[in-house]
Parts: sequence; C-alpha cells; structure tokens
Amino acid sequence: MLLHLRWHKQQKLAIFWPNPWQTIKIAFNWLVLKQPAIKHQFPEDIDCYWISGGVWGSYYLPNKIYICPRKATPQFLEQVIEHEITHLKYENEVKNMTHQEKEAHITAKQIDSRK
Ligand SMILES: [Zn+2]
Repeated sequence: MLLHLRWHKQQKLAIFWPNPWQTIKIAFNWLVLKQPAIKHQFPEDIDCYWISGGVWGSYYLPNKIYICPRKATPQFLEQVIEHEITHLKYENEVKNMTHQEKEAHITAKQIDSRK
C-alpha cells in the first residue's frame, strides 16, 4: 500500500483518502441531487462505481471502472470515464508496456476514438 502510494505520487495523480463524510456526501449528491451530472452517455456495457477515495479513475477487467468525483467537474469526470473505458478495451495491446508507455498508448486511442 505504501509503495503503491509513493508510485501514485510520482505519477502526480491526485489521491483522496476515503472517509465516511465523503462517502455520505457522494452518495447524497448522486442519489438525491443527481450530481455529478454526466451528460455523455457511454455505449459500452460497463459497471461504473463512485468511490470516495483513491485516484480519480481506475479500472478492473473485464468491465468495471471506479471513479472518485472529488474536486472534479462533470466534464473532467467524463474524460476520466472515457479514459478508463479505453483502458478496458485495449488492455491486451498494452499488457507488456511500462506505465508511461501504457498511458501514452491509451491516451492516443482515446483521442482517436473521438474522431
Ligand atoms: Zn490511464
């Protein structure tokens, strides 16, 4: 876990510690206020979970993504969702790459898919 944390810090990703207040706030925002309002509808059959801690986005094969909506606009979250879905789609192509190569490849695929 500690190693993992150091790794994330090197990647300059935001990390949020989970806490009960944030969990309640995210659940309330989503269930009652219908926030964040994600306008883009993704056609893929993906299970998307809001989480209260961790990094903004992560993915688990075959079809799960975890999104932390803290300190992020809906537009930014749409990009994170798209990015994590792209990871799921192209995992086979990037399996043996380093983290940086992987991210570059996935980002390129993500940009391609918008054309
Ligand atoms: Zn990524």
